[in-house]
Amino acid sequence: MSKKQAATIAVRSGIESDQQFGAVVPPIYLTSNYGFQRFGEVPQYDYSRGGNPTRAILADALAELEGGAGGVVTNCGMSAINLIVSLLSPADLIVAPHDCYGGTYRLFESRAKKGDFKVLFVDQSDSQALAKALAQKPKLVWLETPSNPLLRVVDIAAISAQAKAIDAWLAVDNTFLSPILQQPISLGADFVVHSTTKYINGHSDVVAGVAIAKSQAHVEQLTWWGNCLGATGSPFDAYLTLRGLRTLAPRMRAHEANAAAILAFLQQQSRVRTIYHPSLPEHPGHQIAKAQQQGYGAMLSFELDVTEKQLKAFVDALSLFSLAESLGGVESLICHPSSMTHRAMSDQAQQEAGISPTLLRLSVGLEDSQDLIADLKVAFAALERCE
Ligand SMILES: *Cc1c(COP(=O)(O)O)cnc(C)c1O
Repeated sequence: MSKKQAATIAVRSGIESDQQFGAVVPPIYLTSNYGFQRFGEVPQYDYSRGGNPTRAILADALAELEGGAGGVVTNCGMSAINLIVSLLSPADLIVAPHDCYGGTYRLFESRAKKGDFKVLFVDQSDSQALAKALAQKPKLVWLETPSNPLLRVVDIAAISAQAKAIDAWLAVDNTFLSPILQQPISLGADFVVHSTTKYINGHSDVVAGVAIAKSQAHVEQLTWWGNCLGATGSPFDAYLTLRGLRTLAPRMRAHEANAAAILAFLQQQSRVRTIYHPSLPEHPGHQIAKAQQQGYGAMLSFELDVTEKQLKAFVDALSLFSLAESLGGVESLICHPSSMTHRAMSDQAQQEAGISPTLLRLSVGLEDSQDLIADLKVAFAALERCE
């Protein structure tokens, strides 16, 4: 059979696989354990921490979408990240982006402090800084592209070649784009992780993750650690995520179309200073994004030329953008990174990372774009009324 397109893989995962009643949609297996047919004969599944049929369908579908040999579905994105770094030893070094997801930063830094491995955070878009870090022979290079909240883009294939030259593994957090818009393994990555909480489930009602590996040997190690650490996801969450996954491809396209309409609107607003989105020709990394992504995604940030009071009036006037963290759901969200997702960073660290106090981040949802724009218009009018 020819290799299927992503939309087909996503829709068809587990369809008509039921052996008992021929159910078209695979049933959910809410069981903690499974019977041994005969004394001494270990069945395919024995206990749901180690394996569960509902979770297996989701893991196989996500691995196929990413072009990996297999994957482990975990109880959140952070535990998927923790699984991959569980393969490291105390002498091993991780080179990670200085602007990686806050939880990733905290995990790497805290485990490095305990001596589980070493970590070096660098600006990976600075080729000299990256070369200097790679000269220290890391075991694992960690990428997150585009990054949060400034949508910085790095060249996965180029960094993969550099990592291969020193025998380092390359892992990519692909949460912001999903496998519909970027497939890191095809660009040379050894591991891909997702917070499936975001676009893959896509309905903001599950916290979950997945760790995918290119090689079968790594899949086996991740599976072993998933069971050992108790990092695997619940069957119910896997069921919901599988349901969300079926519409991932059209959702991503619709998210993108709405984001493009909002970008065009924001570009006409005099109060908007810099807009951060990889689709913009002036965005650093635009050319790389154009080459390695199949789309630009629906996460965007922008700075407003306003006082703190006006910023508050703007956000308070919105009714179709919920003020919330997280991203990737059907509903539009607005986030103020400085006081929300990135509040753990000091003022100075925020400044160094380029996170201005008037930076706002949008996760553009699937409402009608005209309604979203009308809502933004109300908010711009509100800030003008405010001194
Ligand atoms: C949310 C997120 C995570 C963490 O995932 P959880 O499901 O919240 O544990 C990791 N990386 C990125 C890029 C994220 O957005």
